[in-house]
Amino acid sequence: MIKNLHTFDLKDKRILMRVDFNVPLNNGRITDDFRLRAVVPTIQHCLEQGAAVVLMSHLGRPKGKIDDDMSLIPVGEHLADLLEMPIKFSDDCISEDALDTSLGISAGEIHLLENLRFHNEETLNDSQFSMLLAKHGEVFINEAFGTAHRAHASNVGVVHHFKQKGMGFLMEKELKYLKDSFDHPRRPVTLILGGAKIDTKLSLILRFLNKADTIIISGGMAFTFIKAKGQIVGGSLIDENMIASATHIMNSAKNNRAKLIYPSDFVCSKNMDSKPKGVYSWREIPKELMGLDIGPKSIERFKKIISSSKTVLWNGPMGVFEKEFYSEGTKVISEALSEETENGQITIVGGGDTAAAVRSFGHQDNVSHVSTGGGASLELLSGETLPAFSALES
Ligand code: AMP
Repeated sequence: MIKNLHTFDLKDKRILMRVDFNVPLNNGRITDDFRLRAVVPTIQHCLEQGAAVVLMSHLGRPKGKIDDDMSLIPVGEHLADLLEMPIKFSDDCISEDALDTSLGISAGEIHLLENLRFHNEETLNDSQFSMLLAKHGEVFINEAFGTAHRAHASNVGVVHHFKQKGMGFLMEKELKYLKDSFDHPRRPVTLILGGAKIDTKLSLILRFLNKADTIIISGGMAFTFIKAKGQIVGGSLIDENMIASATHIMNSAKNNRAKLIYPSDFVCSKNMDSKPKGVYSWREIPKELMGLDIGPKSIERFKKIISSSKTVLWNGPMGVFEKEFYSEGTKVISEALSEETENGQITIVGGGDTAAAVRSFGHQDNVSHVSTGGGASLELLSGETLPAFSALES
């Protein structure tokens, strides 16, 4: 059993909280603060209960070296704006000064530590480093879902130094939607897949052949399946290394619960930087063109499947949504999920690109859950036990 935040008496406690502030930055400005906003309620709850909060996170992959471009200073400033309060900052997560600051903060105050990955020991799950991190708090709360599939010092090693340890509201919500809702799912269950890569979604597909009633295989990855059926797909994206896996999935589906559905038409062009040349049936993609978005017939069919479902899980955009010309399929699926959530469906969005797409269309608050983890969400959905959760079990 993992304890949640409500089980702790937080008054006058110093909480060491692992958060995932690995946000996209452009010239020192945060371009998407989704991961910060996702933990604001947890931080506020702790402060309201009379606790002091020490926050620790990684940002990017500095590989054990100090890199000013990956400093958490802009993140601290942005968080201070969101919370409308000052935040103390230390430029090294394990220095004497940093520890003094943590020991000196009062109830209602926040102390943010500099990027954990400026020390190699973080990703090595080093025991000495874990012990030094643990000195910052009396209660350990993990709220970093994005790294839950990694066994690092700040989410695994550190935990053994705490009697009082648990998960925050965000981790609880991720578990509820990505794990519990598929233990005894409300049926019919539809899994919508898209994007470019198949290998990262392979275990998910294999597990859901039995969990889902329908699996829609769309986006760029659909072409590898269509090619595996023996069809020509023009210049569309193909992963030759995955043709055997696609064939295996199609064969396995015959003896399993899930029905596989593919797009029947595509918006095609010469490349993703040029305007669409037209909509073509999946059997008639000209050899000089590539499919870059799903066409209107596919959109209508997918919408019908979505509206007749009770649980929908979506991972992977329907097309090259980053380009306006090829964003329609992804946009309409976002809208459909948003509408069906109002009708009582459970709608879950996973994967970094899909979550970013849903946010760019303004539907992040209209679906049941948008996961903050990419790899972590895929592993949890694939039925794997994530090290960060195992470490918190008591
Ligand atoms: P993934 O990380 O596997 O979910 O892939 C996400 C990427 O897939 C996005 O950057 C999309 O632009 C890309 N994508 C989606 N559909 C297509 C397509 N039909 N052709 C090429 N790339 C695509």
